[in-house]
Amino acid sequence: MAERVSSHSDLIPPRCSGETDPDADRIVRIPIFKRNIYVPSHGASSADLADFMWLLKFGGPEQWYERPEPVKLDRMTVLDAVGCLRCPPDELKALDNPRPLSLDVPQIWVSAALNTPTDDDVFDCMAGHGDFAGKCNQCTVGKREALEKTSLVYTLVLSTFQANEYYSGKNSLSGNGKNIYKMIRCGGREAAAAAAFYAAQDSI
Ligand SMILES: [Zn+2]
Repeated sequence: MAERVSSHSDLIPPRCSGETDPDADRIVRIPIFKRNIYVPSHGASSADLADFMWLLKFGGPEQWYERPEPVKLDRMTVLDAVGCLRCPPDELKALDNPRPLSLDVPQIWVSAALNTPTDDDVFDCMAGHGDFAGKCNQCTVGKREALEKTSLVYTLVLSTFQANEYYSGKNSLSGNGKNIYKMIRCGGREAAAAAAFYAAQDSI
């Protein structure tokens, strides 16, 4: 039976350094949304980040986009490099009429940013605060305070298929095959995990 979760912290539990990574994929059930979610054991990687860089760099939040064709993407990258890209770029237009399909079993890939708490313990003290091995309280508190003072931005990328034009339901068999993408920005880890939890109910 699928593991049942009812909160974002059960779906994306914080994991401190020293804790072992889960080695098994999870299928979790969110009873209030009546949905199953697939959470692979491997997290999002820098390759995933590179794959979505066009959206993170050139897109606006809360809008659905199709991935630009490679030739347009190259043009945007070149124009951006020389500081001549219009904002928003002509090459990337948000969809006027997005029809995101609800997937039968959405997947959630979590990068280390989303499951590492800001008060994670620091074990590898480089500052010589003590001559003991183990957690350094001074470094742990210092890092937590520094992170709390920094305005971090957490970004979620939602991806699904565009529904057929004349289709009013949300069955995933009725897509036109085109992937569409949306970015959500959050100001903290908890807010981002909550947004991922909420998005799992419907729009991905
Ligand atoms: Zn230290």
